Amino acid sequence: MIHAPDLQQIVTEIADEMRRRSDRGEVATYIPELARADPAKFGIAVIDAQGRVAMGGDAEEPFSIQSISKVFTLTLALGRVGDRLWRKVGREPSGSAFNSIVQLEYEMGVPRNPFINAGAIAVTDTILSGHKPREALGDILRFMHFVADDTAIVIDETVAASESRTGFRNAALANYMKAFGVLDNPVDYTLGVYFHHCAIAMSCRQLAMAGRFLAHQGKNPSTGFTVVPAERARRINAIMLMCGHYDGSGEFAYRVGLPGKSGVGGGILAIAPDKASIAVWSPGLDDTGNSHLGRIALEALTQRMGWSVFGA
Ligand code: GLN
Repeated sequence: MIHAPDLQQIVTEIADEMRRRSDRGEVATYIPELARADPAKFGIAVIDAQGRVAMGGDAEEPFSIQSISKVFTLTLALGRVGDRLWRKVGREPSGSAFNSIVQLEYEMGVPRNPFINAGAIAVTDTILSGHKPREALGDILRFMHFVADDTAIVIDETVAASESRTGFRNAALANYMKAFGVLDNPVDYTLGVYFHHCAIAMSCRQLAMAGRFLAHQGKNPSTGFTVVPAERARRINAIMLMCGHYDGSGEFAYRVGLPGKSGVGGGILAIAPDKASIAVWSPGLDDTGNSHLGRIALEALTQRMGWSVFGA
């Protein structure tokens, strides 16, 4: 008789394995406030199709979601302007770093995809149009509350201020796009909203909850609310698979086999379609700016559960 693998047991084992490992990657330091993160932290939360929650390690501790927020701003922007968004941003993998400037010049200020910084700034600019920065940010935060079914989620103002003070590279990207007419709003406003949505703090459990609509054809089975049509959920997953880990996207697909989106805070949201929404967090990064142990933990989980979009 074949027994289904016990998800909670596997998650506990993985959390224990990750706690013991000495290779933990390097915490991001270019945003000074993120440099304070403790590399010993590790958290994992998995919510399966039945809504069962399996957690291990520091799964309830909020961390800076950073670029994982780009999945949700993309969803929101597509809801606002639909396919018109693709006039401002492409959907091809970049093969370059998340903050690359050189690619933007080749491509006349139109970013490769919505997950590299330039692309995410262009998406934020779309959400901002017709609104004051404070309203746009309120919309983004309310959307997070809606998808995660949790109004306790907040922006870490210290992280937002830290990045606003030091985000010269993002300012360069934004000004460059502005020169090509890709951004419609004042650069300072767009960057302000961008830095703040990157500074949203969430736990693995909250993030796995927020990702459920992507795992279940656009609908969050926990709330019963349809967030996006099934086709859009599929397409967002496709972009996560191809672009979610910048120039580490190929390696992530090879090893984990699921759509995923990383952030420099050390979090990763991964989607096993029809099976589970998964969030992991470990602040140490690899040299492509993706969580080192987060990826290793996801590889272990998908192998043990047989979860891959490429077959069992
Ligand atoms: N806020 C970060 C930045 O713009 C997000 C980068 C990331 O998480 N990869 O640099």
